[in-house]
Amino acid sequence: MEKENPICFVGLTIGWKGGKTTKVAVDDLDDFLNRSERLLVFTGAGISTESGIADFRSPGGIWSRIKPIQFQDFLNDPEARLEDWRRRFYFKAQYEAAQPNAGHKAIASLAKKDRLLGVVTQNIDGLHQRAGLGDEAVVELHGSGLRASCLSCSTPMALNAIRDAIEETEEAPSCARCGGVVKADVISFGQPMPQQKMQRALQWVEQCDAVLVLGSSLVVEPAASIPRIAVQQGAPLAIINREPTPLDGLAKLVINDEIGPSLDLAMFHLG
Ligand SMILES: [Zn+2]
Repeated sequence: MEKENPICFVGLTIGWKGGKTTKVAVDDLDDFLNRSERLLVFTGAGISTESGIADFRSPGGIWSRIKPIQFQDFLNDPEARLEDWRRRFYFKAQYEAAQPNAGHKAIASLAKKDRLLGVVTQNIDGLHQRAGLGDEAVVELHGSGLRASCLSCSTPMALNAIRDAIEETEEAPSCARCGGVVKADVISFGQPMPQQKMQRALQWVEQCDAVLVLGSSLVVEPAASIPRIAVQQGAPLAIINREPTPLDGLAKLVINDEIGPSLDLAMFHLG
């Protein structure tokens, strides 16, 4: 072992931990990151589970145990709206209690090295920003569980103020400015994806020179189309995810292991 160089040593360490990552994979990831100057990072629930946040959509996840509230029900049913808020407050507390992990920090560090074009995320927990990325560097495709606003005039309303209002009146509050429906800035089931965010993500797809997918099973559309289009436009793709994905065949590199430790090791040698 004494004769091994650091990258080999860390590669072997990761293998020993039971993952499938090998020395070669870590070297390849290092090389992949080194070649890119405009990296597009696409993240899913898998990066946040490493911070202790539950994956809603996985088997055994929250949506297999409680029924998601459809957008139409939120609009039309006061009880459904109150239940939606109760869930939002519960999740917001979870997001705020969680800490950004080595994966989030590695991405923020790529931004500091001027190698990151941007992050497109399926997550709503705000952990990329808390790791140090500016809002302008993150497209939250499914919105944010930390904010709320009026569906009609977009006036923001703090979730704490909404909770206070509900405790006082037992009704979901309306917009103070226009009387419209206030909703968490999260895309609910049955709610259309925001066109602006998709357009910004697609702009990055055109500008990037490589795509790194972290912790997404790449089965939720249209989000998963982002890395696929990037590959079609010639960008090399690397995927770190615990399970195989439908896009593995298009990737230059696939690592079925934890994201934080894998990225941490690759970043170790990045200039
Ligand atoms: Zn309003």
